[in-house]
Amino acid sequence: MSHPTLHASTHPLVAHKLAILRDKTTEPKKFRELVRELTWLLGYEAMADLATRQVPIETPLEPMTGAEVEPRVGLVPVLRAGLGMVDAMLELIPTAEVWHIGLYRDERTLKPVEYYNKLPDAATVQLCLILDPMLATGGSSAATVDILKAWGAARIKQVSLIAAPEGVTTLSAAHPDVDIHVAALDSHLNERGYIVPGLGDAGDRQFGTFAGPASEPGHEPSDETAEVVRRLQRDLRG
Ligand code: URA
Repeated sequence: MSHPTLHASTHPLVAHKLAILRDKTTEPKKFRELVRELTWLLGYEAMADLATRQVPIETPLEPMTGAEVEPRVGLVPVLRAGLGMVDAMLELIPTAEVWHIGLYRDERTLKPVEYYNKLPDAATVQLCLILDPMLATGGSSAATVDILKAWGAARIKQVSLIAAPEGVTTLSAAHPDVDIHVAALDSHLNERGYIVPGLGDAGDRQFGTFAGPASEPGHEPSDETAEVVRRLQRDLRG
């Protein structure tokens, strides 16, 4: 799958770290470290085109012209799995503002439901980075972009560790102006809406919350969920 707004990293360090992240034996502590390191590498790539302005500085030897990042950047982690990506981004761009929008994915319909939004009345940043480790159906991301655009965000990018083709198609059809940066584009969604081969539930794996077999990616799906996934896959085939 090639798409003009999809940027899948080709960096060997990204591929190496992602393989360890996917491994089912990787424990939450190591998993969190890898999410942080991968976010750092993807953030570096996602912000490669930030505008800079010239600033006069003085080194111990002489005056010179340096650079300063121009746009104000907002980080919008998709709760809860996106939280693990915030610190790494703040290390890269410490002046970023962090805005929380809470959407949960209805487990049956896979549709995003908003339950928390503390954005101020008018946009305070020029570039928003949506942070969500898994771009699965694309529903939460498209809904987050809707909210950010209504807020007045001028430019929006999505940063995810793994994307499914269904999610890329949904997001880019709804918002063709949003660049999508990922470590890998995987094969497909399963009937429960999990990315295959993926890494399982990114929230559970970061925070060590395993709710039992019923919440596992391979568990029997509801008819409604399976139908949503089938519809997304029909859309993808055109
Ligand atoms: N969310 C996850 O955590 N994992 C998936 O595979 C899909 C959505």
